[in-house]
This record gives sequence, structure tokens and C-alpha cells, in this order.
Amino acid sequence: MSDFPIAFRDSAQAQEIINKLASTERLFVVSDFDGTLAHHSTDIYAVPVNQDSIDALSAFAELPNTFAAALSGRHLDGLKKVFPLRAPVLLGGSHGAETEGEESALSEDMKTFLDRVGGELNAIAADYEGAFVEEKPFHRGLHVKAVYERNPKEANAALARGLEVDPGDYFVTEGKNLVEFSATTATKGTWLETHRKTVDATAVVFLGDDTTDEHGFAVLDQPNDLGVKVGDGDTGAYLRVADIDEVATFLQTLLKARQDFLTN
Ligand SMILES: [Mg+2]
Repeated sequence: MSDFPIAFRDSAQAQEIINKLASTERLFVVSDFDGTLAHHSTDIYAVPVNQDSIDALSAFAELPNTFAAALSGRHLDGLKKVFPLRAPVLLGGSHGAETEGEESALSEDMKTFLDRVGGELNAIAADYEGAFVEEKPFHRGLHVKAVYERNPKEANAALARGLEVDPGDYFVTEGKNLVEFSATTATKGTWLETHRKTVDATAVVFLGDDTTDEHGFAVLDQPNDLGVKVGDGDTGAYLRVADIDEVATFLQTLLKARQDFLTN
């Protein structure tokens, strides 16, 4: 595995992988949103989206036997504020706990857990200027990006305190400047496993930049499927793109290969 991930740029091997993916019978193209299709921002509802990537995803969804989805850590309502595409593009939110058009419900036990954790995280956030707690249907997350920009040491101290909050029978994950508690076992991995069946995909490509996207890469059957890691860091993905702009180039390259395959 030491040969992976392969760098996308100027790589004949990458082009070969893309051509093979493009010639699968039913292709499912799934992308994370923040840090993959859009840049991060301190205002989470004012993020600069890469329009070329959006156009490519939209084009995939219009092709025969080809499906596209955005799969985000954001809750579905939040994702819809920043991600412009709708059906036939599928939308998955809350790290896979929500899907556009499907019901999802919290048990009393989950609600009690989220109330407790939310309260404890808010108490921590109050001690750090710029820290805040994001509430999603299935998650409570302590965000410290603004703290980090002012004082990385303080941000790490806040995150450490966040990690001391008891997850009980549930789950806690660390992201970039984020500690998040989850009242669901859904991950991007479980979402991909479920929805690849929904569209009866013969190959799945999934792109993502954060540690939570590794759940997605882990369920892929590479190299038939393909994980694409955005940016630096350890990964289970077979391909790496450098940044958000290169995500667009990757998607455009795959789209062209898919169009060529379908018309020949
Ligand atoms: Mg991301």
C-alpha cells in the first residue's frame, strides 16, 4: 500500500484509473462539500463554492447510468443553504445520518444525550472568544476555528476540554478545529454503502478532505471504486488531489472520460 495514494497531477497512472472508472456500467460520483467543493470560511453560510465542480456534478447527474451526490457533515438544511444542486443529485447530511427525501427521527435517549452534551460544550465555548457550538439534528459540535486563528494553543486547550465530555454510549469524533458528538451510528461509510445500492452502482468515486471522509474511503472496494483525498494527511484513498481547484480538474477529467465512454 506504500504506492498509495497516487498523485492526480501529471500522472499517467491517474488517467488510467479515471478511464477505468469512467467505463463502469453504473457510475456513482459522491463528494464531500466543505474543503472539497467549497473553501472553508469562518462564516459557514458564506463559503466560496467552486462553480466548475458544481457544474461537473450537475452534468454527471444528467448522464445515463450516472449518479451524483453531495455527502456532508452539515445537517441537510444547512447543506441546502450552500450547495446549489437538487434532484436528481442526491443530498446526504449530518455525516450520512440524513438523506434528502427520507425521514429520520431521534429517540428520547438520543435527545437526552444531545441536550446534555450541547450544554457541556456551550459551557466550554463560553470560555473561548470565537468558539461556538453547532447544533445539527444528530450532532453537537464545538468549533474553534476563530480561536485557532487568534491563538492555536487556546484552541487546542478548548478541543481537549471538549474531548473530556463523556460520550456515553454514543460517539465523539475530531475534525479540523472541531470536536463533534454524534447520536447516530451513521457515517459517510454507512451512507455510501446504503446509497450505492439505491442507485445500483457498479463503481463509486468519493472525494473528501477531512478525517470523517476516511469512513467513506474505508468502505470503498478500491481500485474498482475510487477514493480521492483532497490535500495532505494520511488516507485510505487511492488518489490524492492537491486542493479544491484540483477537485474541479479531476471531476472535469472524469466527466469527459464518462461522456466519451457513453458516446462510443
Ligand atoms: Mg470536508
